[in-house]
Amino acid sequence: MIIQRVVLNSRPGKNGEPVAENFRLEQSMIPDTIQVGQVRVRTLYLSVDPYMRCRMNEDTGSDYLLPWQLAEVVDGGGIGVVEESKYDSLAKGDVVTSFNWPWQTVAILDGSLLQKLVPQLVNGRLSYFLGAAGITGLTALLGIKEKGHVAAGANQTMVVSGAAGACGSLAGQIGRLEGCSRVVGIAGTDQKCAILVQEMGFDAAINYKKGNVSEQLRELCPGGVDVYFDNVGGDISDAVISQMNQNSHIILCGQISQYNKDVPYPPPLPPDIEKIRKERNITRERFLVLNYMDKQEASVLQLCQWIQEGKLKVRETVVEGLANMGAAFQSMMSGGNIGKQIVAVSK
Ligand code: NAP
Repeated sequence: MIIQRVVLNSRPGKNGEPVAENFRLEQSMIPDTIQVGQVRVRTLYLSVDPYMRCRMNEDTGSDYLLPWQLAEVVDGGGIGVVEESKYDSLAKGDVVTSFNWPWQTVAILDGSLLQKLVPQLVNGRLSYFLGAAGITGLTALLGIKEKGHVAAGANQTMVVSGAAGACGSLAGQIGRLEGCSRVVGIAGTDQKCAILVQEMGFDAAINYKKGNVSEQLRELCPGGVDVYFDNVGGDISDAVISQMNQNSHIILCGQISQYNKDVPYPPPLPPDIEKIRKERNITRERFLVLNYMDKQEASVLQLCQWIQEGKLKVRETVVEGLANMGAAFQSMMSGGNIGKQIVAVSK
């Protein structure tokens, strides 16, 4: 059977910005028949995520991420529908997902590596399983629960960087649901800031590309910052940490502003900011959602319940077609997305 797939065409280099041309669409063949234990799946949705930037390097700098290989098919989070099954627990028509879904239109996969999904949980919005009801929602919820020390009634102020992105837009809303009394987002355009405040219930939002972030933070967080959900690192985080309170907490979710640089993860703070962090006893522990997968089932149910109740507003930026995977990735890395960046491969 002839299929289409996306392979890694070139590496951007450890200090380079990724571009669409780092990926290449090509035709390939898969066998017409499947073996016992296998399923043939048609790809519905694929996820593009910042961590993939590390997989574009020869050395990912991480012990849990394997590098993509040149001229080989790229993989990541994906959802598809079973077209044929020789694996006992899956049948034709089942909707399934994997963290290592190949970027191709149709694939033959090992059934035991797939997770079956319940479409009713998201009212049929299957792409949510890659975002708000998937690893992104889990990251926001478990990051806050495990590292945020949020307590209802404690009058805490939360700041979220990368706030209009997939994790950030959920993190701010979940911070509020878990009990923060004030939530302030930081994002890269006025449109994003308006969505955060008008649609997602943030109290205020700062466009970091306009004006002075420190000044705006001082104005918008008069009692200081108690919880910082950090998606970006760099100058933005230095400004936030400088205004954090004694015994406050950083949720070290990601450091996207550093991903096109050859620096270790997590990048050390500049000495003056590290001094503040230590003096004020601000926690900054590494957080990796994959370390908490024992809490996946209950947490996904919680996220789906909030979505169904309208308590968690979900935004997606959906690009059509496997041919646009590289463009979608480039766009997401440079701020072109609002909420979760998804590629719809087939209907
Ligand atoms: P995302 O926020 O939806 O997409 C990336 C966004 O980051 C862009 O839209 C852009 O928005 C912003 N950005 C890009 N370069 C920036 C820069 N130099 N400075 C400030 N903002 C910049 O992606 P996501 O999936 O939600 O991931 C967010 C973070 O969480 C990433 O760092 C990712 O690695 C991390 N993450 C961690 C875990 C974990 O287990 N710890 C799991 C998932 C994701 P603007 O327009 O606002 O610039």
